[in-house]
Amino acid sequence: TATGAGLALAARAGADLRDIEFMQFHPTAFACGLDPMPLISEALRGEGAVFVDSSGNPFMNGGDLAARDIVARAVAAKYAAGEQVFLDARHVAADKFPSIFAVCRDNGIDPVTQPIPVRPAAHYHMGGIAVDAHSESSVHGLFACGEAAATGLHGANRLASNSLLEAMVTGRDAAAAIASRHPRLLADTPVLTLQRQTTDNLPEIRNICSENLGILRSAEGLSRAIARLTPLAQTSNAALLALLMAQAALRRTESRGGQFRTDYPLTNPALAHALTTNIRDLPAMKIAA
Ligand SMILES: Cc1cc2nc3c(=O)[nH]c(=O)nc-3n(C[C@H](O)[C@H](O)[C@H](O)COP(=O)(O)OP(=O)(O)OC[C@H]3O[C@@H](n4cnc5c(N)ncnc54)[C@H](O)[C@@H]3O)c2cc1C
Repeated sequence: TATGAGLALAARAGADLRDIEFMQFHPTAFACGLDPMPLISEALRGEGAVFVDSSGNPFMNGGDLAARDIVARAVAAKYAAGEQVFLDARHVAADKFPSIFAVCRDNGIDPVTQPIPVRPAAHYHMGGIAVDAHSESSVHGLFACGEAAATGLHGANRLASNSLLEAMVTGRDAAAAIASRHPRLLADTPVLTLQRQTTDNLPEIRNICSENLGILRSAEGLSRAIARLTPLAQTSNAALLALLMAQAALRRTESRGGQFRTDYPLTNPALAHALTTNIRDLPAMKIAA
């Protein structure tokens, strides 16, 4: 389970983070009580599955395959109104999706005869450790690639299936860049010594994030999250990262891609640029490395 350890380690080492307010929520995690919830791929909707509410009524008006942020907000709105949401895949050919149908059946739902209960889940972080074209961060000798890095490739809203491609390409480039370094340059790179962090308070941090740093955000909720996360961030990597994300989300006074602000529901063209965050920006607290 992702807890942001890589980003927090880089942040504590003084590296710039970029775009960390942009979190992608997938609209169709299988709401079966497992943690993490298994994913019900968009491919099912590509084959004709549709969202229905508790009464079995479709509610996306044909927009079932809209962008993930749009669909996730629509599903979340149903839950906020006390409804449950299902994916009706009863007419989809079971043999096209053997893995998904098997995981459903293993957890008490037969998609051939029953709609699949779904809800949104945190899925992919567009932001990460700011890196250059060779995957090096702002800290000399600290490289990052994969989901922990922010190359800018995914903008504010990743398109499905691009992250593995990015991880492979930038991973290869990072390895080549490191290998091409003069050995003395690498030898001069300082070794980072970081204090051990706790993971004991993960459930509390998840609650704070779900309530205030999720699909719908506002200055009020983000400020509440910052107040609750600040004392936890000294000793918890997850809390530190959540705190930095909440601060970036508060600074971005608009809605764009993976960030939706109920108090700023429109996209502001003047903010069409990345935001960089550094631990040095944290006001009124000293984060220990
Ligand atoms: C359900 C799901 C489906 C997805 N489907 C697709 C898809 O179809 N196509 C696509 O392109 N992308 C998909 N993605 C996104 C993609 O899987 C991820 O972006 C990608 O796997 C990230 O790879 P990574 O190597 O950067 O990180 P990870 O795969 O998360 O690897 C990080 C590794 O670091 C280890 N680790 C963590 N903390 C520590 C620590 N403190 N010390 C040592 N090790 C540590 C972890 O155990 C893990 O092995 C999906 C994501 C999810 C959640």
